[in-house]
Amino acid sequence: MNARRLGSETLVIATHNAGKLREIGALLDPYGVHCVSAGELGLPEPEETGTTFIENALLKARAAAQASGKPALADDSGLCVDALGGRPGVYTADWAERQWFEGAPGRDWFMAMGKVEGLLCELGPDVDRTCRFACVLAIAWPDGASAVYEGWAEGRYSWPPRGTMGFGYDPVFVPKGRDRTFAELDPQEKHNISHRADAFAKLVAEQFG
Ligand code: IMP
Repeated sequence: MNARRLGSETLVIATHNAGKLREIGALLDPYGVHCVSAGELGLPEPEETGTTFIENALLKARAAAQASGKPALADDSGLCVDALGGRPGVYTADWAERQWFEGAPGRDWFMAMGKVEGLLCELGPDVDRTCRFACVLAIAWPDGASAVYEGWAEGRYSWPPRGTMGFGYDPVFVPKGRDRTFAELDPQEKHNISHRADAFAKLVAEQFG
């Protein structure tokens, strides 16, 4: 059965993460989709109680679609490190403690990156640093229909952190075949090869193809 396709309705982007919102907005821009964020609509942020990226993405998209009465797009993403059995995985954001930065809430990504590095170092100097970013995009409609798209970016966990662009774990992620981290690539270059771009390519092929 073909997936439900988006019509001309406004699409709610169900994220409160400014970095993701910027990247998702840029990826949707060429398709003329009118977007509004869950934050702008004042929608509550549901607790991410799923144990997989798919469960969490669907949970967020469904909550926003129900609350707004409009189709909603959510993403769940994270970093999976092979030598750590796929951790931090769905808990990637949780590994960074919530903090206040100059009066605004945020997370301590440097602490989280250091935690992953510490665990890798405990496994010895020759530890396999293969890792991948995962991204699941879920669209939910107010009537309960949904569609899910999964994307990946393969790479290597690199230390120390390098670069100032992007967000989250970008400074430690060197995509396969490159020597610069995601945080050293300009945003367009990252968009071309990221896990989010991979998931988006699948979404675009089905939704706008
Ligand atoms: P969640 O999808 O909101 O649960 O958060 C996943 C976390 O994974 C984010 O807060 C980031 O720390 C990390 N993450 C996901 N995508 C990226 C990326 O493109 N670059 C760097 N970190 C990312």
